[in-house]
Amino acid sequence: AVQIRDLHRSFTDDRPVLSGLDLTIEAGEFVALLGRSGSGKSTLLRALAGLDQDASGTGDIDVPEQVSVVFQDSRLLPWQRVLRNVVLGLEGPGAVARGREALAEVGLAGRERAWPRELSGGEQQRVALARSLVREPELLLADEPFGALDALTRIKMHGLLRALYERHRPAVLLVTHDVDEAIVLADRVLVLDHGVVKTERRIDLDGTRDPSDPAFAAVRTEL
Ligand code: ATP
Ligand code: MG
Repeated sequence: AVQIRDLHRSFTDDRPVLSGLDLTIEAGEFVALLGRSGSGKSTLLRALAGLDQDASGTGDIDVPEQVSVVFQDSRLLPWQRVLRNVVLGLEGPGAVARGREALAEVGLAGRERAWPRELSGGEQQRVALARSLVREPELLLADEPFGALDALTRIKMHGLLRALYERHRPAVLLVTHDVDEAIVLADRVLVLDHGVVKTERRIDLDGTRDPSDPAFAAVRTEL
């Protein structure tokens, strides 16, 4: 689904952020991206989303036509009700029905006419996920989508995202600071360092994604 070859990005001349990064993501593959603050995770994600006009650089990027992006803040339009936020810009007579369906999928049936400010942060991220998935993306880009949520809400959102992923099967690139989140959700975990992918670990825990499992702890240590 995604092919990146020799990607370079910088904002100033003296210090490149991405320096020859190669990355392939298969169709339907769930990849998590770790890396310390400032390592260029968001820069990479924005390059894939075509939102990096303020950066300069070279390289080949091949992404599918249908790409959805979720950020740490939901970026809902405050003057539009929840359902309108989900279906905004969609065309065709089925759009509203699909929007309702998407809201039901994220557990927000009945909240279609609420205003964004009437929802909690976690609920707003659910709306953002519904808005992304109703477009049936081949690639879902998510930049710390649960970073602003409390620990319990975050764990619920992990379950929701994994379920949505299994139903819709987009390729996913999830940027996160949370090693456990990466291992729980992804099929492959990458660590970005000095502008390239430094570590790459396939997550194959025989179906168990339990953070208290010793196999899980072993993977965590490697990352
Ligand atoms: P975090 O985990 O804190 O979100 P990150 O890995 O997402 O960090 P980026 O946001 O990609 O890091 O930033 C990488 C580097 O590029 C940083 O040094 C940052 O200051 C710089 N940078 C990012 N965006 C811009 C910009 N629009 N203009 C100038 N410099 C930028
Ligand atoms: Mg970032």
